[in-house]
Amino acid sequence: MPYHAWFQCISGCDEKYELNEIIYQCRKCGDLLEVKHDLSKLRRHSPEHWKKLFDERYRRTKWPYGSSVWGKKEFVCPNVDNENIVSLYEGGSNLFWAERLGKELGVEDLWIKQCGNAHTGSFKDLGMTVLVSMVKQMISEGKSIPAVACASTGDTSAALASYCAAAGILAIVFLPKNKVSHAQLIQPIANGALTLSLDTDFDGCMKLVREICSKNTIYLANSMNSLRIEGQKTVSMEIVQQFDWEVPDVIIVPGGNLGNTAALGKGFLMMKELGLIEKQPRIVCAQAAKANPLYLSYLHGFKEFRPVKAQKTLANAIQIGDPVSYKKAINVLKTFHGIVEQATEDELANASAQADRTGLFSCPHTGVALAVLIKLIKKNEIMRNEKVVVISTAHGLKFPEFKINYHENKLEEVIPRFANLPVEVSPRYDEIMTAIDRKLEKISL
Ligand SMILES: *Cc1c(COP(=O)(O)O)cnc(C)c1O
Ligand SMILES: [Zn+2]
Repeated sequence: MPYHAWFQCISGCDEKYELNEIIYQCRKCGDLLEVKHDLSKLRRHSPEHWKKLFDERYRRTKWPYGSSVWGKKEFVCPNVDNENIVSLYEGGSNLFWAERLGKELGVEDLWIKQCGNAHTGSFKDLGMTVLVSMVKQMISEGKSIPAVACASTGDTSAALASYCAAAGILAIVFLPKNKVSHAQLIQPIANGALTLSLDTDFDGCMKLVREICSKNTIYLANSMNSLRIEGQKTVSMEIVQQFDWEVPDVIIVPGGNLGNTAALGKGFLMMKELGLIEKQPRIVCAQAAKANPLYLSYLHGFKEFRPVKAQKTLANAIQIGDPVSYKKAINVLKTFHGIVEQATEDELANASAQADRTGLFSCPHTGVALAVLIKLIKKNEIMRNEKVVVISTAHGLKFPEFKINYHENKLEEVIPRFANLPVEVSPRYDEIMTAIDRKLEKISL
């Protein structure tokens, strides 16, 4: 195998482990691990070679390289044999110029990366394909792994259940009862996962799944397992690739457990180290005001980090008070002149609805990112001429309750400024024309 990657402790204590070891934290100091790549081997090829190779593979059908994650296999997880890869053709989601929304908000070059246009409807597929492939690799090498488990706010569980079902491996998902959308709940059920609905919040589910995985040979699929981060980091590579290897000025991503904020930075650092890019973007982490421990830490220059008790938020996938990857995320934000900003329920719901008026159908987490964009433009922290990418992390269709309740004015703490209700009219020409005329009058006012 020409390329090689391994786990390494992030504390600098130099502990290293093979990727096919069942390990999530450093045995010496307990800190998180990250995947490290042998860059000297990757440097044997020029940056131009890699760009050309990745472009040739991008969204083609030569298995498994048409997947935008596995199309960059050498940068992601070279340790998996192709026959063990569990891929559902991840990545390659559309990145589009949101011209009308950008004009309304005051930035000319606004782009939305539609990561929610994905197999399970969120960007969690990108990391899950790597983790489940590595599990299949370990099983093929004779390791006993009876099941893979995760705690989830709804999207990780959907991705795990789907990829495990594709591989014929049992998935066990720990979900906080009544805190995920119906669409999110039905996904692991449909895929045959053991779906545990627990009377606690995400942080409570996380503690339990960690205990169960540490005392058994059940494999832990949460993002403290840094194999997930390796897949998620391809978002950064894909964005740059879609811009013909140019780097945008600002990238905004909603953050909960903060693995993705860390992953985004990791991808950009790797591309820079290997010479594929020269500049770095500013990275903005957008948090819900109801679950904002990183924002609070940012206000004090990241001098300390204190978990909070996450309050109920419409952005349920980021309702996390004790994020696993906070250290990694803080390192990234320090390196990338990062900003952390928060959004209230009212701000996130209205930002989402405003974006929908320009053709999107955005999820509440994307609403958080858009609300933060609006605030940073007002504060002059993002300038009119900057190229801005907002990462849309899930598909709006996963959150129909959010949308319906918004337009029916049933959301707590939200005054819907863009509500649009169906008009009940009898099926008669004149009544329909009256309704149309009324609408046309309103628009021309
Ligand atoms: C997981 C997730 C996030 C946040 O990612 P973290 O790594 O937990 O910070 C944001 N939006 C959606 C839709 C998600 O599923
Ligand atoms: Zn260590």
